[in-house]
Amino acid sequence: MDRQLILIRYGELGLKGKNRHLFIGRLTHNIRYALRDIAGANVYSTWGRIWAEVEAADAGLALARLQQVFGVYSLSPVMRTEPEVPALAEAAQAMLEQGLPVGGSFKIETRRSDKSFPLTSPEISRAVANLLFERIDTTRYDADMHDPDLRIDIEVRGEGAYVYGHTLKGAGGLPVGCGGRALLLLSGGIDSPVAGMLAMKRGVVIEAIHYHSFPFTGEKAKEKVYELCRLLSARMGAPLQLHMVYFTEIQKQIYANCREEYGITLMRRFMYRIAERVAKQRDCLALYTGESVGQVASQTLESIACINDVISIPVMRPLVGMDKEEIMERARAFGSYDISILPYEDCCTVFLPKYPKIKPRREEAEKLERALNIEQLLDEALAKSEILTIDAR
Ligand code: ATP
Ligand code: MG
Repeated sequence: MDRQLILIRYGELGLKGKNRHLFIGRLTHNIRYALRDIAGANVYSTWGRIWAEVEAADAGLALARLQQVFGVYSLSPVMRTEPEVPALAEAAQAMLEQGLPVGGSFKIETRRSDKSFPLTSPEISRAVANLLFERIDTTRYDADMHDPDLRIDIEVRGEGAYVYGHTLKGAGGLPVGCGGRALLLLSGGIDSPVAGMLAMKRGVVIEAIHYHSFPFTGEKAKEKVYELCRLLSARMGAPLQLHMVYFTEIQKQIYANCREEYGITLMRRFMYRIAERVAKQRDCLALYTGESVGQVASQTLESIACINDVISIPVMRPLVGMDKEEIMERARAFGSYDISILPYEDCCTVFLPKYPKIKPRREEAEKLERALNIEQLLDEALAKSEILTIDAR
């Protein structure tokens, strides 16, 4: 069977000593996980790079999966050949015809670690280019040494030669697992899945927490959250723990006992309190939310300050400076958008006050909360919660 070799490049900035070792180990592990259901896939790291080898028929699928792995900067399908000029020219031609549209320009660049090879690196490039020009239709492609559309790289090593051209962009970021653990407040909306994705992009492992107001929010609303979790799990490269928190009683109590215009503020103070408790139980170092300043009444700076006031764990808000348009664009790229726009209620919409307070005051929130037994409500909500493990595939 034909095998396809894939070269996987990662960013090396700031990678020194022990960090480097951990980073590569984690990335290799995550890549193996991404390819785990592709029979015969083999992943290994040598010479400061990671390589994957799959059956040629699976190459398209493998490349698509690898592009999604955080920490991967770019990818190239690689051809392995005999370290001889004719074989190299043949491989370079295949690269050219696959990777360069007609009218495009190319350059051949050689590196040689096998110093016993009879030609120097520039000599190899020239010899391969000369042979290539005899084989290709020269009206279709141009050579350009300064700003080529396609660079074809040749590496001559002791055990053989490698030729690669076509480069695909990776997801960038850091491998998930390099950056600690955090708890994502995941609603069924557009924003929070994007926040989760951005957390993972910086190497953070996430767990998710969702507040539901069953029976006011139905099974369909839950299913939507599960679907978002499957997507997050796929990008994380690991199963995702989802904390489903029973929030109905808290909402009813707020609704029955407190001024309506403070409803959202108080509700969100409870969400934060519960999240902080769960985070501490689960060794999560921070919360992540999909908040963006000014987007809605509960996200003015005054609101955020009043809500944040009840906890001490750090809250990360990776969308804080983004417009809705930008967030939607990212949601589409991530694949969460179509799930998020499904029209099922969430606990915020069920109990939405007509005129939410845009500039809530901490003293007022505290005063209103005196009508509630906070600790008891928290204990009860957590006692009725469940933890699910959600796996992408
Ligand atoms: P999203 O699109 O993420 O729902 P939003 O624009 O609707 O955000 P809010 O409803 O004010 O904004 O929620 C702000 C943030 O609070 C969300 O991004 C999410 O992190 C968290 N959140 C809101 N509702 C819930 C919920 N039911 N369960 C868990 N987290 C929630
Ligand atoms: Mg929402």
